Amino acid sequence: MSNGKALGRRRFLRMGAAAAAGGVVGCSRRGEGPAAPPEGPRAWHLSELAPPPEWSRLDGWQGQVRGSEFRRLLETVSTDGAGFWSALELREDRALIRTSTAEEGAERYALRFAAEAGAGPAARGEGPAARYWRRAGEMGRSPGRPLEGVHIALDAGHLGGRWAQMEARWYRVGSSPAVMEGELTLQTARRLRGLLEAGGARVSLVRETAEPLTAQEPTALRGAALASLVAGQGTGVVFREEQIRREAERLFYRTSEIRARGQRVNEVLRPDLVVCLHFNAEDWGGDAGQPVFSGRNHLHVLAHGCLSGAEFALDDQRFDTLLRLVQGVPDEEIRLCDAVARHLARATGLPAYSYLGKNARRVSDNPYVWARNLLANRVYHCPVVFTEPYVMNHAEVFARLQAGDYEGEREVAGRRGPSLFREYAQGVADGLAAALEAGRA
Ligand SMILES: [Zn+2]
Repeated sequence: MSNGKALGRRRFLRMGAAAAAGGVVGCSRRGEGPAAPPEGPRAWHLSELAPPPEWSRLDGWQGQVRGSEFRRLLETVSTDGAGFWSALELREDRALIRTSTAEEGAERYALRFAAEAGAGPAARGEGPAARYWRRAGEMGRSPGRPLEGVHIALDAGHLGGRWAQMEARWYRVGSSPAVMEGELTLQTARRLRGLLEAGGARVSLVRETAEPLTAQEPTALRGAALASLVAGQGTGVVFREEQIRREAERLFYRTSEIRARGQRVNEVLRPDLVVCLHFNAEDWGGDAGQPVFSGRNHLHVLAHGCLSGAEFALDDQRFDTLLRLVQGVPDEEIRLCDAVARHLARATGLPAYSYLGKNARRVSDNPYVWARNLLANRVYHCPVVFTEPYVMNHAEVFARLQAGDYEGEREVAGRRGPSLFREYAQGVADGLAAALEAGRA
């Protein structure tokens, strides 16, 4: 879900500081603020709970990417187009990248470009350097079976069960069953897995249950929570135990859990692509027991990008973004997002959601596709399709969620059709198949 307002006012107050310092306001993205400094005074130049980058991991990409390509992706996708100059200098034959924003005189990492003329596949990031994922064009032809042999990781957004209320991805109307985003996404992931496997894909679920992947439950994050509160509000403030507890919870489900998923995807699963499944929501007011319903229902699909200058100044965000860029992730990712968005739009009939702020940008002529800098798409070092269909607190969506999953078609909320879960899964599966079919041709 992508609307910060659903979480109430406290988060907004905090996000004032976080956004100013380069944090991201929004869904799984909310509250990824300036670095709390648990490891010492220099940690402010890292995002919360981020390890310092190992810049040598770019070594495999020396001489692989043309300068013109690097600049195009940096200016038109990866950043907001304005905010990278203080941390990166483009020369004709190389990019000079600040390795640490904290140290004025820190050594800059020099990434050499490929020759502009006559460059082969390496110039498009297709060289032998280390990346674990394959673009569709490298998978070999598979006429009529575009998903055959493709390894797809499904990341069911958020948690569920006993964690859903903590995450504020939970509401209930009267005595009806509670609506929990993390349960809905897992249900969709299971349905989607069946469709993709039937098409020949190898499918991994990043999480299989409502339980977290991270071993750092909130009690283990108390020190980091205190440091984060101090970073946001200053040392002269006395924090209540309740504030510290809630901050530790936020670090648990919004940061530590997503970092654990990134680690599992990059180091264990190593798929060809990731689909992050979410449901959207509009502001449902401060009481999840009496949610306000919205008349708006919409769809969008996110690629990664649009870093602000403040975000690009954070060492880990700059590193993750550039590691994706040199691998040629953005173009493949946008191609996949475009196809999934088109098929989801057809399956759902939903209009495109439009961002009004500067935290997202259009990256193709598809009005459903936006680039946005989320922890949950930045930490995956392969193409990510991040889907945001359906406003959970829209009356028709609520009725369809209450109807649950079913075979065939039924009339729900005055409209005859498949279950919402099957509609969602089918749209994504058809979109992936279309993108892979075109790419493998
Ligand atoms: Zn979500």
